[in-house]
Amino acid sequence: MPPATSLAGQVALVTGASRGIGAAIAQELAAAGATVVVNYASSPEAAEAVVATIQAAGGQAWAHQANVADEEQVEALVKAVLAKEGRLDVLVNNAGITRDGLLMRMKSADWQSVIDLNLTGVFLCTRAVSRTMLKARAGRIINITSVVALMGNPGQANYSAAKAGVIGLTRSSAAEFASRGVTVNAVAPGFIESAMTADLDKEPILKAIPLGRMGQPAEVAGAVRFLAADPAAAYITGQVLQVDGGMVMR
Ligand code: NAP
Repeated sequence: MPPATSLAGQVALVTGASRGIGAAIAQELAAAGATVVVNYASSPEAAEAVVATIQAAGGQAWAHQANVADEEQVEALVKAVLAKEGRLDVLVNNAGITRDGLLMRMKSADWQSVIDLNLTGVFLCTRAVSRTMLKARAGRIINITSVVALMGNPGQANYSAAKAGVIGLTRSSAAEFASRGVTVNAVAPGFIESAMTADLDKEPILKAIPLGRMGQPAEVAGAVRFLAADPAAAYITGQVLQVDGGMVMR
C-alpha cells in the first residue's frame, strides 16, 4: 500500500523552485509521487538542474519560466500546466525576494518590488489556480511566509509587511475556499540556509534560536509535504505552521 502521505498522480506547481527552499520543496513533493512544475524567473540552468535531480531520483518534473509578479505570465503559467497535465492539485507560493534597508531610507521601488512579488504574486497565483481547484472540489495551497511577519525585523519593513499580508491572504482564501474542499495554509520559516540568508551575520541570529542552528531547506519542505498530504493534513486550513527552531513561540 502507498504511504498515507503519497501524492502519486497529483500535479504540484512550486513557484521560485530553481534553488533554496523552493528547490527542496519541489524535490520533496516529487519524492512523494507528484509531477512537479518547477517555476523560475531568471535561472533556467538552475531550474533544469532541479528537474534533472528529480528525474534522476525517479520522479517527474518540468520547468517553466514566469515572473509570478506579472499577471499575464501567471495566467500563462497556469494555462501551460493545465494544458500539459490536465490537472493542478497543489500550489506552493514560494517565490520571494528581499530588498532590505531601514525604513527612513527605503526607496519606494524597493518597497514596491517586494510587495509586488511576495504579496501580489501570491494573490495572482492563488487566483489563477482557484477556478480549477474549486471546480475539482479539491486542492492544497501552501504559502511560504516568514517568522518576521509575526515579530517584525529592523531593515525589513517591506518584506515583513508583505509576509504579514500573506498570512491575512492565507486566512481569507482558506475561509473562501473551505466549502469546496480546498485548503490554504502558510509555512513560516525562521532562518534557513539559502542564498537569501548567505550574507547575514550569523552570530546574533544563532543566539535567538533555541535549537541553536539555522534550518535546512529540506526541513521547510517536510512541513510543506505534510500540508499537501492526504489524509494527513485534510482537516487543517487557515493555519500558519512555524519552522523556526523555536525562535518565535506564541
Ligand atoms: P532564494 O534562495 O533567494 O530563492 C528564491 C527563488 O525565487 C529562486 O528560485 C528565484 O528564481 C525565485 N524568484 C525570484 N523572483 C521571482 C519571480 N519574480 N518569479 C518567480 N520566481 C522568482 O530564496 P529562499 O531562501 O529559498 O526563499 C524561498 C521563500 O522562503 C521566499 O518566499 C522567502 O521569502 C521565504 N523565506 C526564506 C527564509 C530563509 O531564511 N531563507 C526565511 C523565511 C522565509 P530565479 O533565480 O530564477 O529568479
